Amino acid sequence: MKRLSLADISGITFDIVVVGGGITGASIARDAAMRGLTVALLEKDDFASGTSSRSTKLLHGGLRYLEQYEFKLVREACRERELFLRLAPHLAEIRPFIYLLYRGYPESPLLLNLGLTIYDIFSGNPIQRHHHMLNAKRTLELEPDLNPDQLIGGGWYYDVLTNDARLTVETTKSAGEAGASIGNYLEVVGLVQESGKVHGVEVTDRLTGAQAVIRAKCVINASGVWVDRVRALENGISDLRLRPTKGVHIVVRKSDFPLQHAVFLRSPKDRRVVWPIPALDGDLVYIGTTDTFYEGKPEEVTATQQDIDYLLEVANHTIPDAKLSYGHIVGTWAGLRPLFGAKPGVAASSVSREHEIFVSPGGLVNIAGGKLTTARVMAFQTVDAALRLYGDTFANRHPKPCTTDQKPLCGGDAEGISAAKQTLQSRHIPSAIAQRWLSHYGSNALRLAETVSADPGALQEMGSAAITPAEVRFAVENEMARTVSDFFIRRATVFFWHHDGGLQSADGVAAEMAKLLGWSSAECTRQVQNYRQEVEHNRFTPVSATTIPVAK
Ligand code: FAD
Repeated sequence: MKRLSLADISGITFDIVVVGGGITGASIARDAAMRGLTVALLEKDDFASGTSSRSTKLLHGGLRYLEQYEFKLVREACRERELFLRLAPHLAEIRPFIYLLYRGYPESPLLLNLGLTIYDIFSGNPIQRHHHMLNAKRTLELEPDLNPDQLIGGGWYYDVLTNDARLTVETTKSAGEAGASIGNYLEVVGLVQESGKVHGVEVTDRLTGAQAVIRAKCVINASGVWVDRVRALENGISDLRLRPTKGVHIVVRKSDFPLQHAVFLRSPKDRRVVWPIPALDGDLVYIGTTDTFYEGKPEEVTATQQDIDYLLEVANHTIPDAKLSYGHIVGTWAGLRPLFGAKPGVAASSVSREHEIFVSPGGLVNIAGGKLTTARVMAFQTVDAALRLYGDTFANRHPKPCTTDQKPLCGGDAEGISAAKQTLQSRHIPSAIAQRWLSHYGSNALRLAETVSADPGALQEMGSAAITPAEVRFAVENEMARTVSDFFIRRATVFFWHHDGGLQSADGVAAEMAKLLGWSSAECTRQVQNYRQEVEHNRFTPVSATTIPVAK
């Protein structure tokens, strides 16, 4: 994926410019490009650096929204969840969940059974993955360390785990493959406005300092919790439509918190839903989330002591013998939900997760809210809205219908994945590395194997996270990683699952990136330092300072 250069686009008018490279903007760019429209996708930081790498990492129907009678939302999300199993099988893993029932919970076994039956039907796959109810004895056989006090039993059902950052990066790459022009670190700092109408964006390249105007027939604001900030670039707009809520997760070791299945339970404090979930990566469990209104700067959102105390209380109520404390926490992350429609007095967790598409007076098309799971639907609705408003001005007056439900995402072609698996085996790639490549890059794992064939040194492991130079090169050359943080947080995603965030190998990663990006040794030091700060910002115990020396 080639990074959009501001020098190359002077004089071009795009059909659509999308502001924001989270899952929403990436999905819109993919949809529009696949329909044959000319599209530019601009991200001010890195792809998925906002909410889209800080979710609960579930592709799910949203079982709990049945409680709020949001049947349409749940049916749609279940359908999309099933679609991801076909479109991105490397990033979608079916997992059993246990919905625990304790005395005092609002739902009875009868009501839960009914809810799970509806969930089965909405998933469209009620035969293969149907739910069943568990009594207390069977629940404790499955999860012997659970708190037995007041336990009634539970409901066994299925949902899907993903890697949200990688899902966003693969969606972005798919948009690029379909013809979209894409750039990270390109911040929209103004709107081109003529006669009260928006005709493009003013952009600053945060890596080079270059500035440019990009003209477009339609500008789509998909900037998540920044949506009001981008709207306010339009003359005369100052009202706030969004009220973000913060969600925090903590990560602990399974050996400290012995849980075999993902469970759905309620906080003893306020009866909110919290999920402890065994992670896809390693012997870890992550627990989340909190849900509190957030007023600060979106860029600075992190877990506070209050957030951690809340989650530790839930964890210690769930498995009392665990006696978890701050010293057990491997890592944390915090994200902001871009939610509309909060009313005074309504709890953060009760605000609707539905998305909203609305047009500003100057013609800016805004979209926010919704879920990672439903981003594809949000995207086709947004592109449909853009076509209704601006279709007759687009260079392509006869765009194709939406086909995003048919083509696998980048790396998601099932035959390609099994071919890559065979190749990795036949080339004797160590199994920990092969597994990591297949689960992160799908069929593109083959390209990493090709790098190793050309240069066996590219298989040299750096540190304990099975990071190799081949992976670093792939991230820079094919996935637009431009900083050490981009690599560790949103390409390799080890940031979330290692207490030191993989810092052990940061010097090696920086040295590898330097070869491709022309960094000086001072820049390598700065890059590693920036990443170290980011890791420390999201940990509650000191991070080890040891790094592995770079091989010359
Ligand atoms: P973002 O990912 O925030 O992307 C917006 C992007 O716009 C950012 O990258 C930002 O840098 C960029 N931007 C902002 N201003 C500018 C500018 N001026 N110029 C250029 N770029 C700009 N959904 C699920 O389906 N499953 C879950 O398990 C789940 N769990 C969640 C848990 C939590 C704690 C939270 C907070 C959300 C969860 N969600 C979940 C919801 C889901 O994560 C979000 O709806 C989704 O990620 C939002 O994506 P987005 O693209 O709209 O926003």
